[in-house]
Amino acid sequence: MVKYTLDTPITKLPRINEKYLKKLNKLGINNVRDLLFHFPHRYNDFSNIKNINQLKVGEIVTIQGKILKINNHYTFKRRMTLTEASIQDKTGNVRVIWFNQPFLIKNLKEGKLISLSGKYAMGPKGPYLSNPNYELLNLYKTTTHTAGLVPIYPETMGLHSRFLRYYIKLILPSIVLLKEFLPTDILKKHNLQNIQTALRNIHFPTNLKLADEAKKRFTFEELFLLQLFVLKQKIRLQRENAFKIIFDKNLIQKFVKNLPFRLTDAQRKSLWEIIQDMEKSKPMNRLLQGDVGSGKTVVAAAAALETAKEGFQVAFLAPTEILAQQHFKQIKNLLKDFDIEIGLLTGSSKKINKKTKIIIGTHALLQKSVKFDNLALVIIDEQHRFGVEQRATLLRESTQIKTQINTKIPHLLSMTATPIPRTLALTVYGDLDVSLINEMPKNRQKIITKIVPPNERKQAYEFIKREIKTGRQAFVICPRIESSIQPPESPLLEGQLKISTSKLLWAEVKAVKQEYEKLSKEIFPDLKIAMIHGKIKAKEKDKIMSDFRNKKTDILLSTSVIEVGIDIPNATVIIIEGADRFGLAQLHQFRGRVGRDKHQSYCLLFSTSGEATARLRAMQKYDNGFDLAEKDMEIRGPGQFYGLAQSGMPDLAMASLNNLELIKTVRHEALELFKKDFHLKSYPFLLEKLNKFKQSIHLE
Ligand code: ADP
Ligand code: MG
Repeated sequence: MVKYTLDTPITKLPRINEKYLKKLNKLGINNVRDLLFHFPHRYNDFSNIKNINQLKVGEIVTIQGKILKINNHYTFKRRMTLTEASIQDKTGNVRVIWFNQPFLIKNLKEGKLISLSGKYAMGPKGPYLSNPNYELLNLYKTTTHTAGLVPIYPETMGLHSRFLRYYIKLILPSIVLLKEFLPTDILKKHNLQNIQTALRNIHFPTNLKLADEAKKRFTFEELFLLQLFVLKQKIRLQRENAFKIIFDKNLIQKFVKNLPFRLTDAQRKSLWEIIQDMEKSKPMNRLLQGDVGSGKTVVAAAAALETAKEGFQVAFLAPTEILAQQHFKQIKNLLKDFDIEIGLLTGSSKKINKKTKIIIGTHALLQKSVKFDNLALVIIDEQHRFGVEQRATLLRESTQIKTQINTKIPHLLSMTATPIPRTLALTVYGDLDVSLINEMPKNRQKIITKIVPPNERKQAYEFIKREIKTGRQAFVICPRIESSIQPPESPLLEGQLKISTSKLLWAEVKAVKQEYEKLSKEIFPDLKIAMIHGKIKAKEKDKIMSDFRNKKTDILLSTSVIEVGIDIPNATVIIIEGADRFGLAQLHQFRGRVGRDKHQSYCLLFSTSGEATARLRAMQKYDNGFDLAEKDMEIRGPGQFYGLAQSGMPDLAMASLNNLELIKTVRHEALELFKKDFHLKSYPFLLEKLNKFKQSIHLE
């Protein structure tokens, strides 16, 4: 008998008061459906059912019998209430003790039949069943909390598995209302339980194998939806039109010849992949991935040049204003012989006109309703820094601008230093093609990284002085100072300042200012030091960066505003204060500010406590982003590492992000299904489910 529909709010369930409601909401549970899909993360195995005369000390057991006696007493020695009971079955008696649960005697009355699961332990007064799970037995002797496999759920303060178990059992009959949305042949082919069976088995399995199979079904389901989601985007995009950018061999040859260095093979290959993509009339959606300093900018500049020379517009987006300024100058310089209008558009500056072909900017660029007539290429630098939501907006906006004016969509080139493992390339990034710059320019030396103990600080400063004497420059990075405030995994970007509390920012500014006083007055009175942070006006920032680039200053003291992209090839030392407060990816990005030319470079790490943490040691040991990413993922897990934790990616899919085989299988099935029926006309339940999934997930 079905009492509750799937949409019944949990407030309609018996005895859910305000207090429980809040806690349930906190777990994301609002209605019966949510509760049914709150899965256990493990099971207690209480299937070892014994007669009392068979009990062995140390075993986890279940016994069932009659309550002979039960009472509370307080022990002053242990400062707690003990509830002590004597239970009898047909073979003997056993002593049971619960700790600090005096309320138990209200329900567990003498004479009642009870089922108990827990550890049979040895105490000073002999063996006893210690703090067991309990439940009174009804006529049918069905159990929920004892005997058999008992589910343990993700809990929150004051809301325990016992509570969740009770309610899930109560609403379990409602699962007959759930419609199977996975295609029958897929269920059959991969031996998957149907949705109703799987739900029963994931909550109350009769054995672990069934529980595993249930989990497998839900994992498959989540990955399948994810695949359908990204593949649909990919296929859709392939059906759109884009401007064809015809490869101009002479132009590219001239560009490459003009460069002050030789392109690496990896740069050439990536550029070639991009050129070929853009020659097609369907939009490119390519991710250019290469470690910090591997030279992604020139590749993008070449693509921009081709596009502009064909008479089309290019939008080049950077996550910070400082970086946009830098790109503006660098690209102007790279393309100076090609007679192309290049403009800059950020929150604070607007240097564009009608003839501007390449518009460089922050995301303000797309929000400021710039009138693009024929935008044919969008380049997003450091795309991982845009935040998942922002990336989605960017894409949507860039495609919408186009559709209003003509029916073509721009090619998209995103760039990142974050390594994308194969599993992610096939899931979250499944709609992208990837180009990889897997080698560094030949002129580079390995950056020497050292964790500096506090007593060697002086030598470190002396070292900087010597480097500067030989003509080099240095960065000093300061984190926020207030110890009560943890730095977020991704630091503040200028565009995000609004959402951060100004308190945080001021703490950060204070730290840099103090450090500035110290360095300029006490440590390096003879050197020219500049300071930069998020509170400084954009114009001023630009001047500070230009002065540093033009070697008018020796040391640049900065917060994380220069974390990504900044390119000062003459800088050879970076000191990172409070390095233990930064994430590995951040530290690697900071380090990438040096070692961008032929000079030997150094990264000196100071930790707040003076201790070397696992992260800092990893920095010392590994110099390339791939190794560090692996280490980072080990420490934080892939969800955190890729910033997917907030993306609405379902748990089981997230947990299986390292299962390449499964991902390939699921992807294959999704592709086959789309080949048969792209609009899922024959699969209405699946379509409905996919639409819901789309709303819950925000990947780019
Ligand atoms: P990233 O991939 O981190 O964005 P950039 O594009 O900023 O790296 O390049 C880093 C530095 O290396 C820049 O100063 C750039 O001029 C230089 N560079 C790029 N390609 C090469 C190359 N093939 N040989 C030598 N230097 C290069
Ligand atoms: Mg870059």
